[in-house]
Amino acid sequence: MAVINENYLKLAGSYLFRETAHRTAAYKEAHPTAEVISLGIGDVTQPLPAACIEAMHKAVDEMASPDTFRGYGPEQGYSFLIDAIIENNYKHYGIEPDEIFVSDGAKSDCGNIQEIFAINNRIAITDPVYPVYLDTNVMAGRTGLLQPDGRYAGVTYLPCTAENGFVPALPKTPVELIYLCCPNNPTGTTLTREQLKVWVEYAQKHDAIILFDAAYSAYISEPDVPRTIFEIPGAKEVAIEFRSFSKTAGFTGTRCGYIVLPKTVMGKTASGERKSLNPLWNRRHTTKFNGTAYIIQRGAAAIFTPEGKKQVQSAIDYYMENARIIREGITSIGITCFGGVNSPYIWLQTPNNMASWDFFDKLLKEVNIVGTPGAGFGPCGEGYFRLTAFGNRQKTIEAVDRIKNQLKI
Ligand SMILES: *Cc1c(COP(=O)(O)O)cnc(C)c1O
Repeated sequence: MAVINENYLKLAGSYLFRETAHRTAAYKEAHPTAEVISLGIGDVTQPLPAACIEAMHKAVDEMASPDTFRGYGPEQGYSFLIDAIIENNYKHYGIEPDEIFVSDGAKSDCGNIQEIFAINNRIAITDPVYPVYLDTNVMAGRTGLLQPDGRYAGVTYLPCTAENGFVPALPKTPVELIYLCCPNNPTGTTLTREQLKVWVEYAQKHDAIILFDAAYSAYISEPDVPRTIFEIPGAKEVAIEFRSFSKTAGFTGTRCGYIVLPKTVMGKTASGERKSLNPLWNRRHTTKFNGTAYIIQRGAAAIFTPEGKKQVQSAIDYYMENARIIREGITSIGITCFGGVNSPYIWLQTPNNMASWDFFDKLLKEVNIVGTPGAGFGPCGEGYFRLTAFGNRQKTIEAVDRIKNQLKI
């Protein structure tokens, strides 16, 4: 009989969204006339930019003719897309085409990257954070068991709370791999150039690698927040960046993302020899992945055309106006909240230190609004609650009005 990978048994289970869905469904069943509005979804709602649709239609037509049909493409992505990515996002940082790997999205990339590192590397993650970094390391066996305090043994958690302004302190014990998500999901907060510089310098000094998830970089509005980690001097020696078309341009169901892995980022062999990580990832990517669909890559490349850029910006402006409405509405009734300026997430402190699941129930029952309990993103998310700006404008306004006028706090 096949022996299973027991690391999977250590996983806490995808409790969060199952439980919020379950509680919401139960409430709706008991109150069939209630008009429940969800500000809980981490998914976009605006359609794809017209430029992408047009490019994809054209690509479909190319598939219909033997002269223009495409079969397998380069696993790393077509050069029309890679060149557009470099020209638009990395022109000033000397990133080469063979340092970009196009994929089916940042979730796969963030989850798969750990495969090129030995099992005995020590990882650091910010808390709270997007669960993929931690769970994929649990699956790989890079952690111990889940402890009663909600933390896995052997993992360095970097608390991010209102007390430290959501800026993680440097690890006190040595780590080799550091996951940073900026702008952050779920807190919506960012690191400034100066704050990120501290991490790049730490990684240089301690030979650590920063795995930098910039899935929300298109939402950054403040000038002192870096759009890419490669803005920071020295990052090309220590950082791998993850980017996605999902939140940028509505590709959550269309699927396209990429990794930027400079050839100057090094790891070492067991005998201490320094090796570039780029060829390892290239080998992994080309062995296990056969490329993102041509049609999708054409759609993705269209976000860099002049019309595409305008359309992308207008969808982001739409969400960020929702974010402003939520943020200002919440603040006006004395609830402290963070984020919503450089990201579509508003991270509020639950009133009267309520537990985040209790606040979930209260919001659902009193005003029929669904959000996401902070505790679901890590132990330091307890006492916080996430609202998203990805909804429809009218519903967002209605939701905020209900919170302002009917919530008893
Ligand atoms: C949504 C999200 C992703 C996943 O993006 P895909 O490209 O759709 O897989 C990655 N990281 C964070 C922080 C996200 O919120």
